[in-house]
Amino acid sequence: MSTAIRDTAAVNGVIDKIQRGRRLTVDDALALYHADDLTTLGVLADRRRRELHPGRMVTYIIDRNINYTNVCNIYCKFCAFFRPPGHGDAYLLSHEEIFAKIEETLAVGGVQILLQGGVHPEIGVEYFEELFGAIKARYPIHLHALSPVEIVGAAEVSGVSVETALRRLRAAGLDSIPGGGAEILAERVRRKYGRRKGGPDAWIGVMEAAHAQGLRTTATMMFGGIETIEERLEHLRRVRDLQDRSGGFTALILWTLQPDNTLLEGKVRKASAHEYLKMLALARLFVDNVPNLQVSFVTMGAAIGQTALAFGGNDFGSLMLEENVVAAAGTHALVQQEEIERLIVAAGYLPRRRNMRYEIIDERGDPR
Ligand code: SF4
Repeated sequence: MSTAIRDTAAVNGVIDKIQRGRRLTVDDALALYHADDLTTLGVLADRRRRELHPGRMVTYIIDRNINYTNVCNIYCKFCAFFRPPGHGDAYLLSHEEIFAKIEETLAVGGVQILLQGGVHPEIGVEYFEELFGAIKARYPIHLHALSPVEIVGAAEVSGVSVETALRRLRAAGLDSIPGGGAEILAERVRRKYGRRKGGPDAWIGVMEAAHAQGLRTTATMMFGGIETIEERLEHLRRVRDLQDRSGGFTALILWTLQPDNTLLEGKVRKASAHEYLKMLALARLFVDNVPNLQVSFVTMGAAIGQTALAFGGNDFGSLMLEENVVAAAGTHALVQQEEIERLIVAAGYLPRRRNMRYEIIDERGDPR
């Protein structure tokens, strides 16, 4: 007997629960996953998305990913971007180079920079205080910067606690924190991907401390590698639990592991479009307290990005003028603003530009 047939009663019970607006357990989500009914999942996720976001609006942001350094001493197995300290291709951008990129971003209507890099063994909190202060003194731009592992790294170099590092970085101009580096918040998976990155508590701990200080952050999940479905749901449960405690996540962003040019090449298969859409819909239904769900056209391509809007996604992510981490793994699906708008319209939605807090900053106004 197939899993789908065996679990029909359980799945019907879960669907009933969703229709009555009740929260799903991990077992409920597992039953939905194993039933493998993509159409039903899509319908349920789309209905939930419409409850939260009535109307046909799909948001996106114009920002720029500035990878200030590729030097990193964490050595994640899935990463094609980093270079070890002392490597011939290692770089650290100067302030002037970073300023030039910010000016280009502002010139095309950008409102935010996403400043991320590797964990440079010689860069502490002081470096970022100086950089952030200099940026804020010059430019009216939102600083979405430093994933949790970089904050932990900088705190260690400076010999201060994560809380102190966050307080100082915030005082220097840090506006919000990207949720990168979560991968899968399960001990076994994180240990296998990169022992030096710390367990799930390391990522959750930084986010919780940031939320406590009033910083908003995003949450991410990178799936399709070595993890089980149970571990993916453990990840989503931890995000949901923290959101219950803090309310600090603005959005959840799912993308698939890109193994090309990494130590995992040939060892894991890229997640299929079917698997991506299924997880996206499941995330919309299970993580009921994070309002925005981004689709990942950078890793999945434009067509799947469009389709994902009918599977729970309400945000097209960012017009990234630079995306070295993904580009280094051979993904070249970056599209410019006109193309993003065209894709959103062609999928039957109304594109609007937003900021990091998901406020509409588009001259066409909020269509809702
Ligand atoms: S994913 Fe980030 S922390 Fe891991 S090796 Fe790459 S740059 Fe370093």
